[in-house]
Amino acid sequence: MMVTRTALIYLSEREGLKEFATHFRPFKKLTTRFVAGQTIAETVAAIRQINADGASASFDHLNESVTRPEETEEEVREYKRILAAIDETGIRSNVSIKLTQFGLQIDPALAYRNARAVVSAAARKSFVRIDMEGSDVTQKTIDIFKRLRDEFGLDDVGIVLQSYLRRTYDDALDLLKIPARIRICKGAYKEPPEVAFPNKKDVDANYVKVMELLLASGVYHGIATHDPKMIDATINFASREGIGKEAFEFQMLYGVRRDLQRQLARDGYNMRVYVPYGEHWYPYFMRRLAERPANIWFILRNLLKG
Ligand SMILES: Cc1cc2nc3c(=O)[nH]c(=O)nc-3n(C[C@H](O)[C@H](O)[C@H](O)COP(=O)(O)OP(=O)(O)OC[C@H]3O[C@@H](n4cnc5c(N)ncnc54)[C@H](O)[C@@H]3O)c2cc1C
Repeated sequence: MMVTRTALIYLSEREGLKEFATHFRPFKKLTTRFVAGQTIAETVAAIRQINADGASASFDHLNESVTRPEETEEEVREYKRILAAIDETGIRSNVSIKLTQFGLQIDPALAYRNARAVVSAAARKSFVRIDMEGSDVTQKTIDIFKRLRDEFGLDDVGIVLQSYLRRTYDDALDLLKIPARIRICKGAYKEPPEVAFPNKKDVDANYVKVMELLLASGVYHGIATHDPKMIDATINFASREGIGKEAFEFQMLYGVRRDLQRQLARDGYNMRVYVPYGEHWYPYFMRRLAERPANIWFILRNLLKG
């Protein structure tokens, strides 16, 4: 299972395959399980349904590791269109961005300027969550987040930490001093054992440790997971410590454990669904397969059905 996961994450980073898959029509159809559509309008429709099921959303335009400065500027324009659509339609949604989408691998100053333009457009109306990517950009992402947080409020911009990284508990302590709104997740990239715990039980133990730190901080954080063990640990800790359901939110991915998403919303928990859309679905989609290699059979069955 571990080998399959590693292989799928490896494939998610191959540019040649990305080109092929993106233009192979039947493959594109299959992505609808995890990707809400190609356009903002299709995503708004998906979010309306999520809102009707009692959850809010985080709007995400898929694109990462962008290498041309002009493309990063187009990403900023796209996020301004998303923010306008949220405003006009009244859907309950904030936005998630990736700094490599805004040029982090070209020049951190460019990524900062682009992210700043989006946070500034969203400020006081919406909230911008900066996703966390591979460990080669963890520190740069935190640095840019801190600069933005210096200028914008707690409810304008937030960040993500990954429990598989050995550094994460210390990062959480450091960021809570600002303070910062944090999404804790397990982490979806391929990382060496020097920086990330290789064993799931350590990743899970660290997740619980960071979750408890976040919930006890009194700041509104996102607990992002589909793992019933992590969800139970969160519910039990909150009830033991007298932390109300309104003090945090659970977060899950579009198309993953919809039953659990609806159940938690029905039980009165704040639930947010991360809703990605767009043409550059390949690396995101492959990481979703890597998280649950059984998804490959689902995909292959549908491909054979035509
Ligand atoms: C809202 C949200 C935002 C995220 N943002 C980031 C980010 O910024 N950076 C980052 O590195 N990672 C991010 N992730 C991904 C995350 O790091 C994990 O890779 C992913 O959530 C799987 O971990 P898990 O906690 O669900 O637990 P796991 O132990 O991986 O899974 C627990 C159970 O959940 C179900 N499940 C999990 N994944 C899938 C799937 N793809 N398909 C079907 N079932 C599945 C299965 O039943 C599985 O047994 C995000 C996840 C969520 C929910």
